[in-house]
Amino acid sequence: MLDQAAINQLRDTPVSDRGHFINGQFVTAQDGKTLDVLSPIDGKVFTRVASGSVDDVEQAVAAARIAFEDGRWSAAAPAERKKVLLKLAELIEREALALAVLGVRDNGTEINMAFKAEALSAAGTFRYYAEALDKVYGEIAPTAKNVLGLVHKAPVGVVGAIVPWNFPLMIGAWKLAPALAMGNSVVLKPAESASLSLLRIAELASEAGLPDGVLNVVTGPGAVVGEALALSMEVDILVFTGSGATGRRLLEYSARSNLKRCYLELGGKSPNIVFNDAADLAKAAKVSAAGIFRNSGQVCVAGSRLLVQEDIHDDFVAALCKEAEALKVGDPLDLSSQIGAVHSLPQLEAHLRFVATAESEGAERRTGGTRILEETGGYYMAPTVMTRVKPTDSIAQTEVFGPVLAVTSFKDEEDAIRIANSTDYGLAAGVWTADLGRAHRMIKAVRSGVIHVNTYGGADMTVPLGGMKQSGNGHDKSLHALGKYVDLKTAWIQL
Ligand code: NAD
Repeated sequence: MLDQAAINQLRDTPVSDRGHFINGQFVTAQDGKTLDVLSPIDGKVFTRVASGSVDDVEQAVAAARIAFEDGRWSAAAPAERKKVLLKLAELIEREALALAVLGVRDNGTEINMAFKAEALSAAGTFRYYAEALDKVYGEIAPTAKNVLGLVHKAPVGVVGAIVPWNFPLMIGAWKLAPALAMGNSVVLKPAESASLSLLRIAELASEAGLPDGVLNVVTGPGAVVGEALALSMEVDILVFTGSGATGRRLLEYSARSNLKRCYLELGGKSPNIVFNDAADLAKAAKVSAAGIFRNSGQVCVAGSRLLVQEDIHDDFVAALCKEAEALKVGDPLDLSSQIGAVHSLPQLEAHLRFVATAESEGAERRTGGTRILEETGGYYMAPTVMTRVKPTDSIAQTEVFGPVLAVTSFKDEEDAIRIANSTDYGLAAGVWTADLGRAHRMIKAVRSGVIHVNTYGGADMTVPLGGMKQSGNGHDKSLHALGKYVDLKTAWIQL
């Protein structure tokens, strides 16, 4: 149970300016540039971070390369790596509330969610991969008798990790933990507007015993720091979570540099499909509302398209709007808020434009669609439900990444599948039905990396998360993620 008094104390703690974390210490940008860090809670600047340059990236990559080549981590015994990563998990857990509050001040996620999904989840991720790392074996191939074919799993080298602002700690840990577990060195670039909690993780990793240079964090604009990392000839693989537009650029940078492998976790426009035979429509409405509106819709797997069978459409939409209107939007550091802030003013303005465009294309705004709590100076938007959305409308095709739900009705199963698969995305989906056969048919037919049945959202470290189509080409989480961070190396030995 979180304590409001403790949160209030942390929210007012001054945060000193932060540099990059390179080779085990904080350093200022070589050209001295900084970026203001603005809180979406009240729109005020509360600290500054270093604004990185190509030179800063080169410094961090060089530190990571030296650390990798001299084997201080890459050649450490698995038991040693395990000990350090378990210690890191413990340290994160120890200051989970402080980390969560720091993150919320930076990105606006409500604290109940940030505590679990950010801080505790990051600790869990480091623990999971720490425990997994000494269970990864090589192979002996079934060759002819006179040869021995060995398959070694070698760390790749220097990993460039670029992450977004919506869940920086959770997603950062999804990259860092398996990369470090397999013995790689990392240069991490957080989103320019959500760097603080990840900088603290780097510091905690040092305290846990991670050797200098193995984990480096360079902050600053994507177009400078991210681009330099992606173009670096010394970065061996790039792991990325963010928008499709940036993902495309990374593939180009890879082609222009050293053909580094790029694993991309991108956006979605995920269909949440409600059939008239769903067992509990009231529950479906409540969970579907949470499935789009939690974290102000700034969730990659948000169920942002609601497809409802036509004969239950009106009643279901009414129930859903009631749920949306009952959600308490407000100060993300107030424990009673259920939805926090939209991350930034440009995001909020883009959401409002999406609503206006949808209306101009014939959609009906049933609830929300406005900025609220403007007097706080923060960025808040009412949960928004748009009905009469055609599958081809821009609001049905383009990711909003905000608290805006597009509702479309469908006739039957075939129609639902056609509409569900009619976007370029394939990240997540949901199906509500009491018919087991239909549930399995939908699981097969809907092209998405994850499909929820009679629920929406929810997962843990044991299952992978990745997208189909233009939602990405890799997987985070689970043992499957380890494969990204090793090179397979064959030894062919004549006997
Ligand atoms: P973004 O692509 O704008 O930024 C992501 C990161 O890329 C940031 O660190 C940014 O600084 C960096 N970047 C920006 N331009 C760059 C460039 N030219 N070169 C290199 N790096 C660059 O995305 P965002 O707005 O931060 O995040 C929202 C997006 O992330 C949404 O599309 C969302 O769906 C997606 N997302 C996906 C998942 C998933 O697991 N599939 C999870 C969370 C978020």
